[in-house]
Amino acid sequence: MTDGSFSDSLTNIRMSPIVSISEEVRKRSPQFAQSTGKKFVLFQRGEIDFPTPAYVVDAAKKALDSGLTKYPKSGGEDGFKDAIAAKLRDFNRVEGLTRENVVVTYGGQEALELSFKLFAGRKGAGFAPTWSCALENFVPFAGIDFIEVPLEHDFAVNLAALEKVVRDIAFFYLNTPHNPTGKLFSEDEVRAIVELCDRHGVFVISDEAYERIVYDGRRHFSPLALPNENIIGAYTFSKTYAMTGWRLGYLATRNKRIIELIRLGNYTQTAGVVTFLQQAGRVALENRAEDEKAVAAMVGEFQERRDVLFGGLRSIKGVQVTKPHGAFYLFPNFSALIPDGLQGRERSMYVYDKLMDRGVATVYGACFGKHFGDNLRFSFSMTPPEEIREGLRRIREVLE
Ligand code: PLP
Repeated sequence: MTDGSFSDSLTNIRMSPIVSISEEVRKRSPQFAQSTGKKFVLFQRGEIDFPTPAYVVDAAKKALDSGLTKYPKSGGEDGFKDAIAAKLRDFNRVEGLTRENVVVTYGGQEALELSFKLFAGRKGAGFAPTWSCALENFVPFAGIDFIEVPLEHDFAVNLAALEKVVRDIAFFYLNTPHNPTGKLFSEDEVRAIVELCDRHGVFVISDEAYERIVYDGRRHFSPLALPNENIIGAYTFSKTYAMTGWRLGYLATRNKRIIELIRLGNYTQTAGVVTFLQQAGRVALENRAEDEKAVAAMVGEFQERRDVLFGGLRSIKGVQVTKPHGAFYLFPNFSALIPDGLQGRERSMYVYDKLMDRGVATVYGACFGKHFGDNLRFSFSMTPPEEIREGLRRIREVLE
């Protein structure tokens, strides 16, 4: 039987190359430890080394004990959706939304997958570099013709480049704070992008997975804070509360037709998110004191890691790195260290392979689309400062 027997929407999906990188690390680690007596330094994954806050874990246990084990309400439980609307108002400064504007989903992943599916078979665009899962999973699954609009080298927005494609697309995928660059889009940038899209009847799929992970006292600006009807916000508990394995998220929009359609899609796929999980999510949001404490502790640690990694990379000759103000990634450029003649795969793997051989795992730039092949993504979500310093020593030895 050939692949032609099955739907393109599944046969065109590729597993994230980041998963293969982690598998390779697992395979090479014992040999590396044997020959060097050292461990791999892990900069490749978006997993988080903090535990889920105890008050959320307790809430899930209590919810189970109290018998919250039956079918969920279509689109999400009212109490949970009320807590989400309150969070959107107080944290994201989104006015005028109620439970009727929210659908509860399995992670940001399902909210995004359903949002892309709204535009199946049409044209969409997003900034390059683009989160690999959008490129490898959502785009082929929904059969989207996806245009990558490159950011500048310092990750500034090029509105003229966006203006060229915006006439021709059904939606624009905007991710702030941004994976893989750590860029926190400014309020002005967000306003300009939303207005440009609105003028051309283009929807904005706003991926705010890292909304609470911001540094230097800055604030994330939610597109949904604008009154425009063309914005679909996708949110998750994964990063804010270190709940990556719980698979809890939600979608919010002013557009009631979109809510109806997403609710149908969500029901068709999973019949809704399990009830005790929704109750835990409600407590996570409503216990503001515990929430603030947990998020502040995690973000404080991440900021220290960012400072160590950014300072270290910046001091290496030939490495060009922009300071991230959100998420937990850096996306430095290595063009000056790659031999001139190298092209294609050899070029995109040149620095990545050298670092891998020295026990430093990163993600090569080609995983994030066509435009930033000379960059590598470093995640510091699993890497305490001491390990980051060890990683930097090795990087320096390899590159200097
Ligand atoms: N958006 C971005 C940019 C991400 O990096 C991730 C996870 O890594 C998600 C969304 C979705 O996360 P989840 O499905 O765990 O909520």
